[in-house]
Amino acid sequence: MTNTATEINSSTGVSEAANPSVTDTDTAATASPPATITFADFGLDPKIQKAVLEQGYNTPTPIQAQSIPHVLAGSDLMGAAQTGTGKTAAFVLPIIQKILRHASNSASPARHPIRALVLTPTRELAVQVAENAANYSKHTDLRAAVVYGGVDMKEQVGILRNGVEILIATPGRLLDHIGSKVANLSQVEILVLDEADRMLDMGFLPDLQRIIDLIPAQRQTLLFSATFSPEIKKLAQSYLRTPVTVEVARQNAAADTVKQVVHMVSSADKQRAIVKVLEARTRAGLSRQCIIFTNSRLGCAKLSRALERDGIKAGAIHGDKSQGERTLTLDAFKSGAIEALVATDVAARGLDIPDMPCVINHELPYNAEDFIHRIGRTGRAGSKGDAIALVDASEKRLLDDIEKLMKRKLDVKPLPEGAPSQSRPSFSSYGSAPAKMSDPFFYKPYEPSASTASTTDPAKPEEKKVGITPAKPAVGALLGGFKKK
Ligand code: AMP
Repeated sequence: MTNTATEINSSTGVSEAANPSVTDTDTAATASPPATITFADFGLDPKIQKAVLEQGYNTPTPIQAQSIPHVLAGSDLMGAAQTGTGKTAAFVLPIIQKILRHASNSASPARHPIRALVLTPTRELAVQVAENAANYSKHTDLRAAVVYGGVDMKEQVGILRNGVEILIATPGRLLDHIGSKVANLSQVEILVLDEADRMLDMGFLPDLQRIIDLIPAQRQTLLFSATFSPEIKKLAQSYLRTPVTVEVARQNAAADTVKQVVHMVSSADKQRAIVKVLEARTRAGLSRQCIIFTNSRLGCAKLSRALERDGIKAGAIHGDKSQGERTLTLDAFKSGAIEALVATDVAARGLDIPDMPCVINHELPYNAEDFIHRIGRTGRAGSKGDAIALVDASEKRLLDDIEKLMKRKLDVKPLPEGAPSQSRPSFSSYGSAPAKMSDPFFYKPYEPSASTASTTDPAKPEEKKVGITPAKPAVGALLGGFKKK
């Protein structure tokens, strides 16, 4: 008989070491090993199955195969899953199934209390989860909505007042709505903490505590995190009850479908190196679409403009951009009008860009885990991707940290033919004085990354900003945007 678990692995690119497995932890109940599972085996309502089929999903991904039965059975769950593993459907599908009994076509708001709450660290992730929830529930009478900061509250207030069963929210904005008595969590049955590690990194713990205190103790709690740090385990001990622990990916690993390469380039040459890399990709018949990560907002904006001058269709997405601007840029990127999306770490997680062929690190991040999240933008759901890091000699310590975390050495290769001459030191000269940089800006890329500084995180202050109306309504603030098609 065919081993579907193996099929799942090959179709998602999750490696042997990343085999779906369920682990025991101090608090975890033992779960059974993966069985041969198809979507039909979950016993989901036909309305949900129809929506899944319409998405074109044939086989559950490992995190789905492992998590969905436990969520349906009512267990609390800790899921360790990388972005791109299909973790959103792993919790959204069973949530819809579990609250479907409450679905009502009544117009009365009282018939549509919040039954499931998903908390996410960033608005981008919130919007994506909400889009998934809207898609998977579109044949039901359940309502899905998203609220996040940085946009006017008025539209969100209207939608919350009309009633919504599945609410996806960033913590700060949700507390604003709770404070003005627009959101009531007293009937929440299922709570999801998505990218919980990121929420802790961003300093959301006090907000999380305030929110969770308002949710009935008789609830089911699901926690998803890229890694299970001691802090995450502590959070789980506080708020989860004998959770099943599901791990589908080796912790701190990148998908094996991602081809990683390091080019040694002095900071002054990095911009031209990107141009050459993209030219080489064009010559090789590869897509020029790429995400380029920078460490600072200023550097992000500057690099985007410089690439534009070099004839590359570029757009910047970082914490100083309004939600409307970000949405427009992302839409342009998705449509192909922009080929190089230059981003800070605020965009490193949560963005769902299918088949992203290439990620370029213009600088290495200061937090090694951010590197994993950055390159997680490619090689998603089993597709192939290239992750290219442009590394200056001064970044040796950062590269060491990354290699230590990933437990592997990255391949160092020369830049493609025609690339700027590499006035860089060889690998062996790492640790020596950095090459002289002609652009003083790049000497100062130090803006703490999102996960290392809670107070200066680009996403956090935006939580509190109000009154900025996006040029174009973001997909779902929109909630209005999530009316059934
Ligand atoms: P996520 O990790 O939830 O962000 O999902 C990553 C990507 O995988 C998204 O583009 C999903 O639409 C896609 N996806 C989720 N589940 C499946 C599945 N069972 N088969 C194929 N693609 C999927």
